[in-house]
Amino acid sequence: MGPAGSGKSTQGHQLADEYGYAYISTGEIFRVLITGRRRSEMLEGKLLSDGEVIRVVDKVLEIIDTKEQFVLDGFPRTKPQVDWLLEQVQAGRFEPPVVVDLEVSEAEIRDRLQKRGRLDDSEEAIAQRFQQYEDVTRPILDYMQEKGWQINRIDAGRQAQAVYRDILRALGHLFITNKSG
Ligand code: AMP
Repeated sequence: MGPAGSGKSTQGHQLADEYGYAYISTGEIFRVLITGRRRSEMLEGKLLSDGEVIRVVDKVLEIIDTKEQFVLDGFPRTKPQVDWLLEQVQAGRFEPPVVVDLEVSEAEIRDRLQKRGRLDDSEEAIAQRFQQYEDVTRPILDYMQEKGWQINRIDAGRQAQAVYRDILRALGHLFITNKSG
């Protein structure tokens, strides 16, 4: 979890590559699939419908072995998406997820995304996506916590390697502490 520019895909890729996990990013999947008017809406930062996103995630999860660990990046982003994931867990499809929340300020995000320069990284789109993250997605963190999922809030306004180390620690992959703890 984390707004656009918080480092979700950088961190998710590194984790998947290092530990051999499948890496599923709904943003990357939809940048491949979506055409026409809806593509421009997506690039402006509007969320796609829950029905469509869930349908695609469901299909992708049929392809991978969900008894193995996998990284989900960019999903869930809304309450109905959390409810769907909860149903999957209750149905025994996979274990409850460990949630990693990458916390970054809007100023830092603006700075990073302007450097990244993706087509959907205009000033307006950055502001819209940050606002929508605050309004729609951030509140579901508490909801997931109420459901008993482990939420790890990580200060992601730091160097990528420091953030990555905290993620490994949160996932129980790193037990050795160094001088800085
Ligand atoms: P991202 O690369 O994660 O920033 O996603 C890029 C775009 O894909 C978003 O701005 C949305 O339009 C769409 N998208 C990705 N994941 C979701 C999701 N879980 N729910 C709704 N829309 C999504």
